[in-house]
Amino acid sequence: MQYKRILLKLSGEALMGERQYGIDPKRLAEYAEEIKKVVDLGIEVAIVIGGGNIFRGVAGASNGMDRVQGDHMGMLATVINGLALQSALEDAGIYTRLMTALEIKEVAEPYIKRKAIRHLEKGRVVIFGAGTGNPYFTTDSAAVLRAIEVNADVILKGTRVDGIYNEDPEKNTKAIKFDHISFDEVLKKGLKVMDTTAFTLSQENELPIIVFDMNTKGNLLKVVSGENIGTKVNL
Ligand code: UDP
Repeated sequence: MQYKRILLKLSGEALMGERQYGIDPKRLAEYAEEIKKVVDLGIEVAIVIGGGNIFRGVAGASNGMDRVQGDHMGMLATVINGLALQSALEDAGIYTRLMTALEIKEVAEPYIKRKAIRHLEKGRVVIFGAGTGNPYFTTDSAAVLRAIEVNADVILKGTRVDGIYNEDPEKNTKAIKFDHISFDEVLKKGLKVMDTTAFTLSQENELPIIVFDMNTKGNLLKVVSGENIGTKVNL
C-alpha cells in the first residue's frame, strides 16, 4: 500500500446521492463499504466531512443572516453528517470515533490531537466534525489542518469528478485531465482544487492532495494502493 494513514475529505453534497437535500442512506452505506475495504487492509483512516448538503454560512449571509451565525449552523451541519457517517460505518462493522472542533461532548468527543492519533493507531476510523471550529473557514481547510496535525500521508478529496481538468469537465466535454500537477501550476493556471486558504496550507506543509471520483466502486482502494487514478497535486 502506498499510504499508511490517509485523510479522506467528503463534501456534504456527496452524501445527498440522487437527492436535492439532506442525506441518502444508500450513498452512505456505499461509502461505508468503500472505506471498509481500506480499513480491512490496516490503513488508518481519518475523515473530514462537509456540511453543504444541509447549510452553508455564505448562503445564509447572502440572505441577510449574520455570517458567523450562519457558519455556526454550517459547522453543526457537519456534525449531523458525521453522526450519519459514523452510524453507517458502524453498520458495516467498523470501529469509529467522532471528534468535534466545537464541544458537544454528550454527542461526540472533543477534538484532542493526541487522542485522535491514538484512535487511528488502534484502527478506529476517526471522523472530524465541526470543521476547524472557526467561522470563515471551510471543511477543506479543516481537512488540511487535521491531516497535518495527525501526520496523514495524503489528503484524498473524494468528489463526483475523476480529477482536476484544465476546464470544467461538466461544462466542456473537451476538457483535459491532469494525472499529476504541482501546487504552483494549479495556482498559475487558476484551477480550483480547494479554497485558497486550504490549498496554501497544504502546499506550505508539502502535503499531497489527490482528487478522485469517490462514487465509483473500488476507487478509494485503488488510490490508497497507489494506482494512478484521479489527479495528484504535489510539489
Ligand atoms: N464552516 C465553518 N468553519 C469551518 C468549516 C465549516 O464555519 O472550519 C461552515 C461554513 O459555513 C461552511 C459550512 O460549515 O459553509 C459547511 O462546510 P463546507 O461548505 O466546507 O462543506 P462542503 O462544501 O464540503 O459540503
